Amino acid sequence: MQTKEFKAESKRLLDMMINSIYTHKEIFLRELISNASDAIDKLYFKSLTDTSMGLRKEDLAIDLDVDVENRTLTVSDNGIGMTEEELEDNLGTIANSGSFKFKKDNELGDDVNIIGQFGVGFYSTFMVAKEVTVITKAYGSDKAYKWQSNGVDGYTVEETEKDGVGTTIILTMKDNTDDESYDKFLDQHQLQALVKKYSDYIRFPIRMDVIHTNYDDDGNESQETVRETLNSMTPLWKKNKAELTDEDYNNFYTEKFMDYTPPIAHIHSKNEGVATYNALLYIPARAPFDYYSKDFEKGLQLYSSGVMIMEKCADLLPDYFSFVKGLVDSEDLSLNISRELLQHDRQLKIIAKNVERSIKNELTKMLKNDREKYLKFYETFGLQFKFGIYQSYGAAKDTLEDLLMFASSFEGKPVTLDEYVSRMKEGQKDIYYICGESIARIEQLPQLELVKDKGFEVLYLTQDVDEFAIKVMMKYKDHPFKSISDGDLDLETDEEKEQAKKTAEENKDMFGYMRDALGGKVKEVRLSSKLKSHPVCLSAEGNITIEMEKVLSAMPQNEHEDVKATKVLELNASHPIFAKLKTLYETDKDKLTEYTKLLYSQALLIEGLSVEDPVEFANLICELMV
Ligand code: ADP
Repeated sequence: MQTKEFKAESKRLLDMMINSIYTHKEIFLRELISNASDAIDKLYFKSLTDTSMGLRKEDLAIDLDVDVENRTLTVSDNGIGMTEEELEDNLGTIANSGSFKFKKDNELGDDVNIIGQFGVGFYSTFMVAKEVTVITKAYGSDKAYKWQSNGVDGYTVEETEKDGVGTTIILTMKDNTDDESYDKFLDQHQLQALVKKYSDYIRFPIRMDVIHTNYDDDGNESQETVRETLNSMTPLWKKNKAELTDEDYNNFYTEKFMDYTPPIAHIHSKNEGVATYNALLYIPARAPFDYYSKDFEKGLQLYSSGVMIMEKCADLLPDYFSFVKGLVDSEDLSLNISRELLQHDRQLKIIAKNVERSIKNELTKMLKNDREKYLKFYETFGLQFKFGIYQSYGAAKDTLEDLLMFASSFEGKPVTLDEYVSRMKEGQKDIYYICGESIARIEQLPQLELVKDKGFEVLYLTQDVDEFAIKVMMKYKDHPFKSISDGDLDLETDEEKEQAKKTAEENKDMFGYMRDALGGKVKEVRLSSKLKSHPVCLSAEGNITIEMEKVLSAMPQNEHEDVKATKVLELNASHPIFAKLKTLYETDKDKLTEYTKLLYSQALLIEGLSVEDPVEFANLICELMV
């Protein structure tokens, strides 16, 4: 027997494993099973070219055996095994481990994090075991070897006896501590669940004795031990689409993603070419309870050749599609790739792009073929698209603009931008919109009346983010967005324009007087071209609209407090009030001041802003009434 020391680097990692406070210690089983599966793969591959081996595929398997009394869990495979030299090279040193190399290169400090982020291979067994014994016999060799270690004092290697080729790994579990029980790794149900969770789709059977409790007709209990295969072996996503029913897809969804409401759509794709992968994606019917909280984590499960390597790979989904659940399985990714390395992985980027495209296509198809369904979906998740456009400073516009829906003055139903544009009046260049808290509120806004009267369709923006997104988009298919609350809409005939110019000129002094009466609250008082039956309205000039001012001032942090729209008070010359104002300008300027303040306050209220001086406003009204 020889006793050997671990290489320095391995020691550091082992130390980390033994003292690990990492909470997902259970991943050791996944690592052992995938090593076993690789070893079987290697042997199987050999047999394909060497028929004299007489290997039968149905004999290939991974076995789990539990001995509760002696606190051991044994994982055996009949794969390719290891020679003495390979044992030393593979288990004595960790220098080749990609994850460890990454740690060294970057000198990351937080051990817990590192274990969480990397595949840690064989050494992860030392998170749960106080002693690990490996008995192995390589294919083509008649000698077997035993490797043994407690992870601390190095390891021993000696010759031993073993029937058949392959590797058997015996873990003697750590003793329970106050904080942690290792019994769970000897528990039948826990082991079954772990195999299901991480290794369900390993292509060889993972077998274990399972105790079943049976009851006869008289209620007598008896126990029966059955050697069972714990994994289903063929991943659903690798099956042929034609073989699968909606029910299969939905059952898988429920089981895998713990959502009991069936999804509204699934996307199952097989891709070859620049990136080879299978993807199975679901669009849920409802948002998870934490979707709008900061606890929500987006991401798809990531598999490398049927072995799960990450529960939530965030890099596979853009934020605006964060509601999508599902998985990607690729042969191009290595099992031990770290999260940090993944982010820079070219292959993964290509997959992510493809995934994004297929989600978009699915939604586009739904919008076209099943509008009701799409509308329901949009009600639940559509807000994400507007945030997506806004937060990406417009970069996501191309992807998302045709998926957006807005309430509209057209038949009171939600419309797409494409539909709006296809209905535009001859000569209309702009896409008109108006903002407000609700459709009911918007429909009462004075600015809307005339535009609608003239036969233009107007989009109703009722969500806070709407106008921010629209501003970032700027235009849709060469049609600029234009708020009908802001500035001049240029809707009048030449004759009307001429008339307006004249009226404006005649009342220039009065407008100036009224502006001054408001003491700087408005930049200008002027004639309106968009009012029909209302006497006044407010509009804004510059980048900040009135709606944006409202949204910003409602935000919890008050840093936006002094972000204000540059307001303009617009007057309707055809309203009887206008004539009254003119008279007052000639006869009673004090009264005109009061009326101006009242009109301004009214305009604020109609816009959904609060009156700046409610007491003064109330007093002015009382005076009028008296
Ligand atoms: P990785 O699997 O990432 O290479 P591990 O530390 O898990 O890292 O394993 C190191 C090496 O040991 C493997 O690459 C493989 O060559 C060998 N090995 C581990 N387990 C087995 C096994 N059950 N049968 C044969 N070889 C194995």
